[in-house]
Amino acid sequence: MDQLPKCGANYAPLTPVTFIKRASMVYANRTSVIYERTRFTWRQTYERCCRLASSLRALNIAKNDVVSVLAPNIPAMYEMHFAVPMAGAVLNTINTRLDAKTIATILRHSEAKVFFVDCQCVQLAREALRILMGAWKDSLVAESSIPLVIVIDDIDSPTGVRLGELEYEQLVRKGNPRYVPAELDDEWDPIALNYTSGTTSEPKGVVYSHRGAYLSTLSLILGWEMGSEPVYLWTLPMFHCNGWTFTWGIAARGGTNVCLRNTTASDIYRSIAMHKVTHMCCAPIIFNILLQAEPKERGREITPPVQILTGGAPPPAALLEKIEPLGFHVTHAYGLTEATGPALVCEWQAKWNKLERNDQAKLKARQGISILTLADVDVKDLKTMASVPYDGKTMGEIVLRGSSIMKGYFKDQNATSKAFKNGWFLTGDVGVVHPDGYLEIKDRSKDVIISGGENISSVEVESVLYKHPRVLEAAVVAMPHPHWGESPCAFLALQKNPAGKTDDVSEEQIISYCRKNLPRFMIPKKVEFLKELPKNATGKILKNELRAKAKDLVVS
Ligand code: ADP
Repeated sequence: MDQLPKCGANYAPLTPVTFIKRASMVYANRTSVIYERTRFTWRQTYERCCRLASSLRALNIAKNDVVSVLAPNIPAMYEMHFAVPMAGAVLNTINTRLDAKTIATILRHSEAKVFFVDCQCVQLAREALRILMGAWKDSLVAESSIPLVIVIDDIDSPTGVRLGELEYEQLVRKGNPRYVPAELDDEWDPIALNYTSGTTSEPKGVVYSHRGAYLSTLSLILGWEMGSEPVYLWTLPMFHCNGWTFTWGIAARGGTNVCLRNTTASDIYRSIAMHKVTHMCCAPIIFNILLQAEPKERGREITPPVQILTGGAPPPAALLEKIEPLGFHVTHAYGLTEATGPALVCEWQAKWNKLERNDQAKLKARQGISILTLADVDVKDLKTMASVPYDGKTMGEIVLRGSSIMKGYFKDQNATSKAFKNGWFLTGDVGVVHPDGYLEIKDRSKDVIISGGENISSVEVESVLYKHPRVLEAAVVAMPHPHWGESPCAFLALQKNPAGKTDDVSEEQIISYCRKNLPRFMIPKKVEFLKELPKNATGKILKNELRAKAKDLVVS
């Protein structure tokens, strides 16, 4: 075998850009994007991406320059997932729910050359730019740190809002439809720069490679068994890990992207009925929105069921049990920004179809096994780096390795070295492995409650609370305890009862319900009712805020 030729001139780097080129031929006249009254075909979408990429080149955007965008799930946001890498540049999608200061930090840290801003985000962008300009005037940053700003006006109902000289559609119009995408030197070249949502620390920049994005996309299509020509509803923000790679994936499958500016229950149900949606991704929080919808918002029965891929936070089994009868079929995935989105998927086994619905929900609430292109996942004792036994009980830290795991944080060697040990990426999540090899998350390591030397998984206590018929949202955090050191404290938001009340359930009732359903040491010592639980920009419950509240509570 020594005589085998080495990979040479025939080397073609893996890149998701090939998906859209192919879609423009195979699915040329099929609808690629639906947004309000706008419709594009795959041929048109590809042409628009070529035009935009060539206009970016004309604006002197060079290889590896960062192009930032602040926009909801609109066609321009979708197109940029191809046009920016086609120009050789790196896409940085920014969460529209962040505050101006964080956005300014991201623009400065990423050294963005261009900043695309949706017309609805102009106020926020203006404030972020004002902060950046202030830093320039104070000589804290160079003038080159101020990006060129381009507004994206709404194609369907133009607003005429401006924040600079240039507008997105103008660049598309002026561009070259026969532009040839920039050649890659290497498949490890960067395609995207995504900042972590900062739930547990400052946001950090994660660089995605063309190769990682390509492989993750294919893995997820396979793991979710997504057939060709799906109709995909954009409920998950594209700014969240590039829509868990489905921005690229829908082109690979020749599907239709149904774009939405807002994700209210009626928008979702209306889109499902109108466009015969087959697939959507969302955080479990969206289940509550769908479940709380009035019957008139829900409209007609959903058949066949819409496939949902959920993740981003643990979906309580009780919610999974309630959502499926509404016409949804849920697949559960687990991932993080550093893993190019989902890294594990709870792959369903045919033998589980015979089980009762609540047993099925319990199995589905587990995070599952590695997606196909992730080389390895394990749960380890971080002190010894030994794997925990597959007993569903022994907790350890979830660690990952493979080509979809980031190489490191952008310009942050210190955080990068802390994130890896012996070549494994440390997720900061604590879990167990069941005898069948499926993983289950018990907590984020920072959220584990240590009470009298026992580790309490807040996720386990929450999953019991979610089974209470009146609980809408639940979060359990540690509170100081004079005897046990820490003890669980539950924060709850209640569903309205038929009379529209939310104040008819008492702390004693919840505690006595927990007594019947949990071991003694796991029962919350305190229950606090809030109208709504505090959440971060990606809809995750802010446990650090709740921990701060819990510190001031006294155990009775
Ligand atoms: P951040 O770490 O800043 O919140 P990410 O969006 O990357 O940003 O979140 C990744 C984290 O979300 C994971 O480390 C994990 O704690 C949580 N997570 C993601 N998917 C799941 C899931 N299916 N079940 C439980 N937790 C999840």
